[in-house]
Amino acid sequence: MATTETIEQVKERIEEVDPTEALEELKGDGVALIDTREPYEHLEAHIDGAELVRPADVVDRIEEVVPDHSQRVLLYCASGNRSARAADELRELGYENAASVRGGIKAWEAEGLPVVMAEGMTPEQRNRYSRHTLLPEVGVEGQLKLLNAKVLLLGAGGLGAPSALYLAAAGIGTIGLVDDDEVDESNLQRQVIHNTERIGQPKTESARKTIEALNPDVEVIEHRVRLDASNIIDIISDYDVIVDGADNFPTRYLLNDASVRLRKPVVSASILAFDGQISTFIPFEGPCYRCLYPTPPPPELAPSCGAAGVLGVMAGVMGLLQANEVIKLVAEIGEPLVGRLLLYDSLGTHFTELKVRRDPECPICGPNAEEIPESEMGKFPDYELFCAA
Ligand SMILES: [Zn+2]
Repeated sequence: MATTETIEQVKERIEEVDPTEALEELKGDGVALIDTREPYEHLEAHIDGAELVRPADVVDRIEEVVPDHSQRVLLYCASGNRSARAADELRELGYENAASVRGGIKAWEAEGLPVVMAEGMTPEQRNRYSRHTLLPEVGVEGQLKLLNAKVLLLGAGGLGAPSALYLAAAGIGTIGLVDDDEVDESNLQRQVIHNTERIGQPKTESARKTIEALNPDVEVIEHRVRLDASNIIDIISDYDVIVDGADNFPTRYLLNDASVRLRKPVVSASILAFDGQISTFIPFEGPCYRCLYPTPPPPELAPSCGAAGVLGVMAGVMGLLQANEVIKLVAEIGEPLVGRLLLYDSLGTHFTELKVRRDPECPICGPNAEEIPESEMGKFPDYELFCAA
């Protein structure tokens, strides 16, 4: 085996046919069509009637798929290189009539010839999300999960702005935005989903305009309200995952209690000055926010809305880590940040990970936590006192 050969040398030994010639041949009888790519590529789009035989399996499987060595065999891959090598392997195995489709399925599609596409995605979507679907871990299946997902962002501010931008670009099909604030000039140092012209506009409206311009696949639902015990259950129950970018502790506790009741995963982050932290809370699989912080800090230590300084980039870093967690949860890939608190110190550029365990005494997710009947759902203690400071 000459492993140092170039693909051009291999191609000199084999027969290549143009896509239109291949199509003509396939209209006749007795032609075997082999797709020599990976399963995720085949799923995305393939030529009708093709049998998938992965490049690594060609030598072992071809006898089973095409027992007759004199049969006509057409092979294709993405651009015609893998199929050329496969045709050469068939030649060595004694197949007399194997050919590779020149330029592969890319050339085939460029000529406007028909392919069988994955269901549920338009040609525009296949193009838009091709860098996702090329990842075997995501694939068409994962992208469809993203397109069907509903993600709620609590806050269209520092964390919500970068997070919403990337989740929209990633093709999250429904993005809900909870914010009752308006765009202020002092927001623009970090809230990159807004811009100077939008000063004074509601943040949810400004964010919606940016998202719609970025990706028409995304439906934006504006919740121009302040979350409280009376509306939280109603608002979060429609969503699959919640991104917590709240700027105050009362809202975080309220969200925690409601999300544990409804068993909704929450990706929570916070930023202050040059430091950020993030964790993913999946109810009853890992700790909840109250397991981590059984009591809120006293008001004088709780950095409340607006007053504290923060490096703008910190919002981007932590917001994007949140978006990354959301995509993993939705596509069901990787390892979620459950039971782990990730700390980021931007001045030193250090990431530190702390283990967080479920608190057996937790009044919300602990084994002795009192069951709240359906009729009581949404009734939470009033935490507004904390925010008063
Ligand atoms: Zn808990």
